[in-house]
Amino acid sequence: APSVAKPGLNVLLAGPRGFCAGVDRAIKIVEEALKRYGAPVYVRHEIVHNRFVVESLERQGAIFVEELHEIPDDGQPVVFSAHGVPKSIPGEAERRQMFYLDATCPLVSKVHREAEHHHARGRHIFLIGHAGHPEVIGTMGQLPEGGVTLVEDEDEARTVQPPQGVPLAFITQTTLSVDDTAGIIAVLAERFPDMSTPAKEDICYATTNRQAAVKAIAPRADLMIVVGAPNSSNSVRLKEVATKAGCPKSIMVQRGRDLDLAILDGVATVGITAGASAPEVLVEEVLARLRERYSLATEEIVVAEERITFKLPGALAGAGAQA
Ligand code: SF4
Repeated sequence: APSVAKPGLNVLLAGPRGFCAGVDRAIKIVEEALKRYGAPVYVRHEIVHNRFVVESLERQGAIFVEELHEIPDDGQPVVFSAHGVPKSIPGEAERRQMFYLDATCPLVSKVHREAEHHHARGRHIFLIGHAGHPEVIGTMGQLPEGGVTLVEDEDEARTVQPPQGVPLAFITQTTLSVDDTAGIIAVLAERFPDMSTPAKEDICYATTNRQAAVKAIAPRADLMIVVGAPNSSNSVRLKEVATKAGCPKSIMVQRGRDLDLAILDGVATVGITAGASAPEVLVEEVLARLRERYSLATEEIVVAEERITFKLPGALAGAGAQA
C-alpha cells in the first residue's frame, strides 16, 4: 500500500510531570501491604486521585471504601489515602482495633502539625484551600470544630470574619495554584497585619515544579494536554496555569483513548504535562494516540530536577522503597 507521510506535530513535554514522592509512597504502601498481609487490603478513599492506579490496585486485591464502617472486622489492614484524614479516623480505627497504615503524604502531615502548633498557641487559623477536597477535610479535622476557617479565594479573603481578639495564622492546601495563593495571602496580610506569616506557604515542591514547567511551555504551545483526573486538585491547577500563562487552549484527559484528535486541527505545537497522581504510562498512551495521526517531534523542557523520596511507614520498613 502506498504510504502517506503523516503531518508533523511538535510536542513539548513538561519536566517534571506526573508522579511525586508522596503518590509513589502511597501506592507502594498498598502494594507492600498486599504482599505482606495478602488480599484484601482495604483503602479508605482513592489512594491517589487516578482511576488507572485505583483499578490496577483493585486487580491486585485492594478494596476501596469511603468510610471505615464499610470494612468488616476481618483483621486485614486498612490504608488511609495520601490526602490525609481527620484525627477522628485513626481514632475510630483504634476503637475498632483495626490494623491501619497511614499513607498520608509527609508534606500533608507537616501541615497537620503546623495546624496543631498554631492551635496550641491560641491562634485562629485560616486554611487556604478548596472546600470538599479530602486534604482540606483532613487538615480541618486535625483541630476541634471552629479552630479553622476555610478561605477559598481572594473574595473570601476580603470578607472573612475571624473571631475577634484572637491571634491569627494561615496554612494552605499543598496542591494550590502558586500565583492565586500569593494573591489570597496578600489580601489576608493587608487586612490582618498581625497575622503570623511563615516564610513560605505549604504548596509542595511537586505542585510548584509542575506549575513552573507548564508556565515554561505554555507560551510556545497552541494546546496544553494535562493528563490527570478532574478530582485531582493539582491536575486541575495545571490546566488553569496553562491558560493563565498564555496557552490558547487547555484540556484534561485521563487516558490516551479519551483524546479526540479533532482538537488537534490547526495545532502546530502541543504541550503535555501530567498531574502528580498520573503515571507516566498514561502520558505514553497520549503520545501513542497522537502518533496515530502525526509524526511527532518531541522536546522535553525540564525546569527542575526532583530527587526527593519518602520512606515507608514503620510497619512496612525495610520494604525497599527508600532510594
Ligand atoms: Fe505530597 Fe505534594 Fe505529592 Fe500531594 S502532590 S502527595 S503533597 S508530594
